[in-house]
Order: sequence, then C-alpha cells, then structure tokens
Amino acid sequence: MSNIAIDGPAGAGKSTIAKIVSKKLGFIYIDTGAMYRAMAVHMTRNGVSADNAEDIEKNVDTADISIGHENGEQVVYLNGENVNAFLRTEEVSAMASKTSANGKVRAKLVELQQKQAKTCDVVMDGRDIGTVVLPDAELKVYLTASSRVRAERRYKELTLRGENCNLDEIEADIKERDHRDMTREISPLKKADDAVEIDSSYMTIDEVADKIIELYNSRK
Ligand code: C5P
Repeated sequence: MSNIAIDGPAGAGKSTIAKIVSKKLGFIYIDTGAMYRAMAVHMTRNGVSADNAEDIEKNVDTADISIGHENGEQVVYLNGENVNAFLRTEEVSAMASKTSANGKVRAKLVELQQKQAKTCDVVMDGRDIGTVVLPDAELKVYLTASSRVRAERRYKELTLRGENCNLDEIEADIKERDHRDMTREISPLKKADDAVEIDSSYMTIDEVADKIIELYNSRK
C-alpha cells in the first residue's frame, strides 16, 4: 500500500490539501484529528474533566470509534453514531487538544489508524503521522504557515460565517494549541527527519497540492 503522511500545526491547511491530493491520486483521505475530536465528544458526554488523567483513561475503553466514507467524505462513528456534526465546536477543539495528550487515548487511535493504512492507499493528516503512525510512508510532508497567517485564515472563515471574532485572540489561541502539541510528552508535533517541509504562508492551495503530488510522483 502507498501512504502519504501530512503533519503540521493547526490551521496550516492540512485537511484542505490532503483532500485534494487524495482525490487526484485516487487515495483515501484519513483525518486523524477527527478521531481525537470524536474521543473528546465521548469524554465531554461522560462529564470527564480534561485535566483528570485517571478519569480519561477509565472512559477510553467505552469509546468504540470507527471511520467510514459517505459521498467521498470521512464519517466518524462513536459507538455506532455518526458524530461529524459535533466535531468542529470550540469546546470540542479545546477538549481534544487536552485529551489527545493522554497515552491510552493515543494508543487506541494509533492502532486504528495503522490498520486503515494497511488496507488501502491513504493520505493521512495529523500531528504524529510521519513520526509514529506511518514511519515508512512513501512521502512525509511537514506543512507549516506562520501563526499570523493561520489566524488570518481562521478569522476570514469565521467572519464569513457571520461570527464575531478578534484576530489577536485567535492567534493567541493558535499559539497556545501549538505549544501544547509540540511540548507534550507522548508523540509531540515535530517534523520527521525525512519529511519535506512546505511553508504554505504565501502559496495558494493548488500550489501546495501540486507540489506534494510532484514530490510523490518523483519517488515512485
Ligand atoms: O487536526 P485537528 O485540529 O482536527 O486535531 C484535533 C486535536 O487532536 C488537536 O488539538 C491535536 O492536538 C490532536 N491530534 C493529535 N494527533 C493527531 C491528530 C490530532 O494529537 N494525529
């Protein structure tokens, strides 16, 4: 099976780019962040405190998480329920950022991700794909953009949706999440030694996607 790993901080454009690349190559796109988010939904529903490791670990076993694809979109099932509609709230983002640092949560989801990559060609995005989940991926990309540019993208998205927001606050929040992802003990976000770093700050979405496809084709 062929695997492409895309890692990087929040808001660098990983999922947008991974979707385009997977479509063009005929691969399946796997959004691992959505699995951590589904786990966070489970924890929230069970009243777990994000800072209580014992409580988090007690609740991991009762979360049966699986993924499927409907109309080309990834669907995440939590104990049989499609939870896609609940994954993108600020509350779930904050909970996922904390509970994803837990070793038991990670072990469970990494196993599921590795199983998926064995059954089909995948473009998988996350934080630890090139370093932990798919260390033998054909191509590893570390996609970055400055925190200001990432905040501006998020600001535009929220404003278009009619939401009131503040650019400086969004940037501060992005920096805080980056810090948590990069400094956690287990599987911190970092560039794999053999990953190609792409800074998307001043590139268009298509330029980044084309660059990744070109890199992949040059390695076949
Ligand atoms: O990518 P996304 O923002 O949807 O990820 C949600 C959360 O899951 C992030 O805060 C990140 O800490 C965590 N995550 C992770 N490892 C991955 C993917 C996501 O720790 N492979």
